[in-house]
Amino acid sequence: MRFIMVLLALLSGVAWAAPSSVAILQYHHIGDDTPRVTSVTAEELEAHFAWLKDNNFTVLSLAEIQQRFDSGEPVPEYTAAITIDDGWRNVYREGLEVFKKYEYPFTIFVNPKLMREASSQYMSWEQLLELQKYGAHIANHSNSHWHMTWRYENECEQAWRERVLADVLDAQEEIDKHLGEQPRHLAYPYGEYDVALETMLAEHGFIAFGQHSGPWTPYSPKTAIPRFPASAQYANLETLATKLKSLGLPLVAAEPKEMLVSSDNLTPSFRVEVVSTDDFNPNQMNCFAGSDVLQPRWDGNIFHVQLRKELPIGRSRVNCTVPSVSEEGRFYWYSHPFIRADQRGRWPD
Ligand SMILES: [Zn+2]
Repeated sequence: MRFIMVLLALLSGVAWAAPSSVAILQYHHIGDDTPRVTSVTAEELEAHFAWLKDNNFTVLSLAEIQQRFDSGEPVPEYTAAITIDDGWRNVYREGLEVFKKYEYPFTIFVNPKLMREASSQYMSWEQLLELQKYGAHIANHSNSHWHMTWRYENECEQAWRERVLADVLDAQEEIDKHLGEQPRHLAYPYGEYDVALETMLAEHGFIAFGQHSGPWTPYSPKTAIPRFPASAQYANLETLATKLKSLGLPLVAAEPKEMLVSSDNLTPSFRVEVVSTDDFNPNQMNCFAGSDVLQPRWDGNIFHVQLRKELPIGRSRVNCTVPSVSEEGRFYWYSHPFIRADQRGRWPD
């Protein structure tokens, strides 16, 4: 399909194809006695893995995908990646048989400090070492699993920088010490980041993953790579299938770059510039903000979305989708994250 599309595009003089798009699935707990909102059961996990197999998906490690994107190599048309945050002990207990059966590569993002302080809740280094035999890669979820963008009261930027950087580098050092040097991949706790944090991580060679949804493409910012939550209500394979097959918009830039909205702007807007609109009809794009469905305003290759309903305190995301013209049944998917703080500049986990 992709080949024919490229051929047609070349023949018609329009050399544009959908970018390589990888759906990264994001899990936390595996079990039926953990908070449902962040859990899949072992049966659901197995059903997801079976679905990937039955639908001829290629599952690649994050490092392999990154390397291909960096070298301009495409990934197979249907590619997914698997990530599991926090390193809960139930991931080993409930997931081991599934990991063994499928031997898909997957990444577990761990918090070494929490592993030390609450060892009964988290996987041990020995368990992580064992999972490496069945496809696990172990990466950084910060040492402490805090809200990384929060500054302490009276903390200056330099002090915040030093504190957060030490937290990340200490975690990396411990991971590398126990498991051998691992790629510098970080999943932001709660999917929260700001430009100062992104800049610092990039300077130290990290790529970083959020919790806003959408596929990873070569156009994704390297310190704001989206992932699809796959737990709880998102575990449903009918809706998950649409996400797994989704295409990434070929982004040039998205504004605002900060997730945090100013306290006097409760209905923020955002704008996104794309390389091309050749493979979709801009008028068919819909953006979903809570229960509100918004039509973006297009201006050439740039679309603007103005929220109408006040953002609640905490994290929100606006998901925009539009059908692909060339690939029937597939949608382009873009998600814009926002955070609204309370009067103290804080928000719930
Ligand atoms: Zn986490």
